[in-house]
Amino acid sequence: MPQVRIVLVETSHPGNIGSAARAMKTMGFHQLALVAPRQFPHPEATARAAGADDVLEGAKIYATLQEAIADCHLVIGTSARPRKVPWPSLTPRQCAELVKKEGALIKIAIVFGRERCGLTNQELDLCHYWLFIPCNLSFSSLNVAAAVQIVTYELHLASVESPWSVLSDSRLATQAELESFYAHLKQTLEDIGFIHSAKQGPSLMRRLRRLFGRIRLEKKEVDILRGILSCAQNPDRGKNRVQEID
Ligand code: SAH
Repeated sequence: MPQVRIVLVETSHPGNIGSAARAMKTMGFHQLALVAPRQFPHPEATARAAGADDVLEGAKIYATLQEAIADCHLVIGTSARPRKVPWPSLTPRQCAELVKKEGALIKIAIVFGRERCGLTNQELDLCHYWLFIPCNLSFSSLNVAAAVQIVTYELHLASVESPWSVLSDSRLATQAELESFYAHLKQTLEDIGFIHSAKQGPSLMRRLRRLFGRIRLEKKEVDILRGILSCAQNPDRGKNRVQEID
């Protein structure tokens, strides 16, 4: 089985945390991460977990989404709402296929939003993909634990239909490595005058994140790109550089 972490962001009702833990355990998943839960631990969470207490007890709590996914190589954000910038999107079934293809060695996070307002655009920016559960478009917001159930069911179904494969070169960049790259890229684009107004930055960076997110960069590729950025920032440094990359 791949290492899939279910991440719940700022859940307000502790009962939903319990129901999500139950949903996960029924499908064979145990890694639960909670980002700034409103109330946890809580008797209502334990009651709704209905025996998935081990999942609740093992839940890790983080202050920010960034921290909860820092070591992950593939991050999938779920949302009930279409966004302005179309993001590479998946159905739960396509997500299961992708997770299966990426294999048993990488860390995957699937992120679920707040009951009231879901995930922010900034949080979705941290994700490689956006997952939408096809449903009635005029009433598209499922209960968060129901959404966890559907997504983990598809992952489980894919695993029983045929075993997970292992990606040959699994050293994909982690979320934290990607974030450092994006920060470096943004700084360089400012330094070389490509970004010249505060207004232009966020939408350009969002498009660039989408571009690199589609490719799924490896750690070595991030190192090469950052080397290029460093030379662009300081061309003198590049002059004496031996071309060791072919
Ligand atoms: N009112 C919120 C929806 C919150 S539902 C909004 O407009 O975004 C709580 C969470 O459940 C969502 O953040 C998402 O993670 C998940 N969810 C609910 N319905 C979904 C759907 N149709 N597709 C994907 N995720 C969904």
